[in-house]
Amino acid sequence: MDTGLNNAYLEALGIQRWVRRSAPPMEADTVDVAPERSEESAVGAPDWEVLQARVAACTCCSLHATRTQTVFGTGDRHAGWMLIGEAPGADEDRQGEPFVGRAGQLLNEMLFAAGFRREQVYIANILKCRPPGNRNPLPDEVVHCQDYLARQVDLVRPALILALGGIAAQNLLQTEVSVGRLRGVRHSYGESGIPVVVTYHPAYLLRSPLEKRKVWEDLQYAQQLYRELTPPHE
Ligand code: SF4
Repeated sequence: MDTGLNNAYLEALGIQRWVRRSAPPMEADTVDVAPERSEESAVGAPDWEVLQARVAACTCCSLHATRTQTVFGTGDRHAGWMLIGEAPGADEDRQGEPFVGRAGQLLNEMLFAAGFRREQVYIANILKCRPPGNRNPLPDEVVHCQDYLARQVDLVRPALILALGGIAAQNLLQTEVSVGRLRGVRHSYGESGIPVVVTYHPAYLLRSPLEKRKVWEDLQYAQQLYRELTPPHE
């Protein structure tokens, strides 16, 4: 990415230009191979259209009763990066798209700082319906909704997943460890073993702007890992 643009977006994020003097927060584990990428659906598994229709009609948990609409996901269905957040908020519930409003704007700026436009990644949430009052998802809601996300990951087959916030990270990685301790290390998602990098949720950054520098470190780490996973000859 052009250095001038990069600096401009770091400025937009409220981060002073920062020159890294040492390695990212923690060294990446050795990366052997990039995950196999396939555009074919598994036999019997729903394709995008069927999956989206199932989500739109879903009444598997109580959140269907209070939602305005489901929030399926958005972006490039063949993206190298997949971003996964927690659940729709009020703006997302109204507009039917993940990460809109102020948190979405900050996410766009984070992505731009990492060299991506929003439409070049795929963005989804753990839950497809808004929990009332933006409370945290309940375990049974996550259980009922998790197959939809798993199928989305299966269809996108990203080279890398960026988990945004504790709820997303803990559910993807099946752990109760905090975001602060999950950052800076390569994790992997499920049986597919897709690499996962953890960072803070943009909504948290709006409340705690001093943490933006850590997110910038996480994005640099994710970029480094992605470069290793997708060498230029591919
Ligand atoms: S949150 Fe998920 S499981 Fe619950 S009603 Fe919405 S789509 Fe269905």
